[in-house]
Amino acid sequence: MFCRLNLTIASNSMILKGYFKTIVKNKHLSHAYAFSGDNRNEKVDLTEYLVALLACEQSDDAIRPCGKCDTCQRIKEGNFPDMLFVEKDDQSVRVDQIRELKQWLFTTPVEADFKIAIIKDAESMNTSASNALLTVLEEPVENVYIILWVNHSSNLLPTIQSRVQTIFFDDKDYQGEQEEFIEQGYSCSQAMILSYFLSEETSLLLDNYTPESFEEWLKDYQLFYQKLVQQDKMSFVMVQTHLKKHFKPSTLSLMGADYLLFLNYHFMLHLIGMTAEEKLPSIYDKLFSHLKSSKQPPIQHLVELNQHLLNTKQAIQANVSAQLAYEQLSIKTNK
Ligand SMILES: [Zn+2]
Repeated sequence: MFCRLNLTIASNSMILKGYFKTIVKNKHLSHAYAFSGDNRNEKVDLTEYLVALLACEQSDDAIRPCGKCDTCQRIKEGNFPDMLFVEKDDQSVRVDQIRELKQWLFTTPVEADFKIAIIKDAESMNTSASNALLTVLEEPVENVYIILWVNHSSNLLPTIQSRVQTIFFDDKDYQGEQEEFIEQGYSCSQAMILSYFLSEETSLLLDNYTPESFEEWLKDYQLFYQKLVQQDKMSFVMVQTHLKKHFKPSTLSLMGADYLLFLNYHFMLHLIGMTAEEKLPSIYDKLFSHLKSSKQPPIQHLVELNQHLLNTKQAIQANVSAQLAYEQLSIKTNK
């Protein structure tokens, strides 16, 4: 059985570049990202693209970054004064490296109107280095950006994870995994979502759900997402009536938030015309078209929703009850 679902959240570098271009153009770049995956070349490529996007001298937005001007060239050569790479020293990234980085970040830029630091092998930060970085992430400064390169974002401390936006570059065998789920009785579109989660999370879903009840899980979250996008106050009631039953164990409530982030990410791509048709099952095209036609939300609303969803995860990880965290999400979104 062939399922055209070879999907990761965003493995296609063209889509990612388009995504960042839109975000930068609308001035919605987050202050911190984790680039997660084994493929270092893709991380290098996207990082250079992003820095060039911010710094390129080319005045025509349409072809920015130009890749040719002096600035673009020096970014490629790693010779741009407002971009700094931090690499692990021996086995780990140490606390004094993070302290130095912090000092560097808060000095005035030399050429650009921003500063950006890239921490390579960010998962090798020891606990004190992680905590030092956390203080930077907790108090974001305008025009200061941090990118963490990691092999697996799940290796970062949850406190750090919840404060960065993760972009996945995956080498996982999605197709193989999805075929296994299909053999177990799951539909193509269910298999796609199951393979989107980390393997421990997927096992948790498989332990708690059957193909039928998992379909209900998906539908409940899709409906909730719809209400959030439409800023419909019913989303508050839905936490009790539709979602609460999916909140135990609490990891499942985090996965619900991840699924909402997934929907939000793809809906944003859909709105900016970057949907790769063959990559999402048609139910998502239907959902997004419906959302677009009923009352098209401004992209800014979706960017804010993204932040509220990250905050929801963070609250649950800090032991706030899932019901309360989701109710807060509903209230914040409806403001
Ligand atoms: Zn340029």
